[in-house]
Parts: sequence; structure tokens; C-alpha cells
Amino acid sequence: MEKVSTNYTNWFVQENVYTARTSLDNPTDEVVFYPHRAAFTNKILNQDTLPFLSISHGNFRIFFAGNTYAAAHLPEIKEQIAFAFSNALQILNVEKYNRGITLILFESVEEMQAFTGVRAQGGIAYAEFDAGLFPITATRRPQFKHEIFHIISLNAWGPSGCRLLIEGSAVYADNECHIENPIPTINAYYLQSN
Ligand SMILES: [Zn+2]
Repeated sequence: MEKVSTNYTNWFVQENVYTARTSLDNPTDEVVFYPHRAAFTNKILNQDTLPFLSISHGNFRIFFAGNTYAAAHLPEIKEQIAFAFSNALQILNVEKYNRGITLILFESVEEMQAFTGVRAQGGIAYAEFDAGLFPITATRRPQFKHEIFHIISLNAWGPSGCRLLIEGSAVYADNECHIENPIPTINAYYLQSN
């Protein structure tokens, strides 16, 4: 019983240390990357079998492999990511967003699936880890606007039990379909065809 009690006390002290070290005493304008102990994205980045390079861009730390389509198209990708970021803030009416966001770019849907177990064409958002994962290929546009909106909305506005609000707002933020086709056009078609 004594040992259990000591263990608990030690754990409690350690938790307080963790919280104190990862909370800011004073507000800052710096972009801050928060640690996530449970984030499986750490395992993706902290291995050296299939290593990643990274660059910083605004709120983002972008990971990619040097021999990929993503590496050859960094200027366009950075532009799309910057637009996705400002677009999300504008829709959410958030003036300032200082959380760092980790993006991992994979060379294919298959590679992302091998790392994550998830098969997704446009990308995956892990808002709780401040992270977004995307396959970057020549044939399919990555859904930066959609997934980055998830990351920012769920952190800035907090979680919601309403799936329609979470997904609907992200689709609205993207405002494109599989082919380029703005959402209002689809809405107009539905209205006209009842
Ligand atoms: Zn979504």
C-alpha cells in the first residue's frame, strides 16, 4: 500500500512538472509547438528507416522526403498551405492562431497507409496532435484547406459532438469537389432539383 501510494505521489508530481513546463506563464506572439506524449505521429518522425527532412513555414513544420513529388513542388505546396491557414482563420473569425502545426507529406497513398494504417486520398487531420498527414502525388490534389480547417477549428473553437458541423464547415472551407466544383453550385443544383 505504501509503495502504491508513493508511486501515485511521484506520478502526480511528474504530471504537475509536465503541465508547468508545457504551459506558458505569459502570453507570447511566437508560434509554439506543443508536445503530445500519445501522438503516434512522433513514431513516424522519430525513426530512421524511412527518414524525413523538414522545413518551417509560418505556423507549419513540414516534413517530406527529398526524392518525392512534394520535395519538387515545395513553393506551390507552401502557397496552398498558407492559403488554407488564412482561409480557415477568416471563416472561424480567429484573429491570431499561435499553435504550431506539424504536416507530414508522403510520396503516395500507399506509403501513408503503411505508416498509419489509414487509406485516405486527400489527407488526414489529427487535431488533438496538431498534425495533418497528406499523400502528395501528381494525380490528386491534397485537401489542405479541408484538413487544416479541421486542425484549426477543433483547437480554436474546441471539440464538438456535431459531426455535421465539423465536416460541413471543413467542406465549406475547401469549397471544391473531387473535380473543381464550388459548393454553392452543388447547393443550387439540389435546390433546383428539389
Ligand atoms: Zn473532414
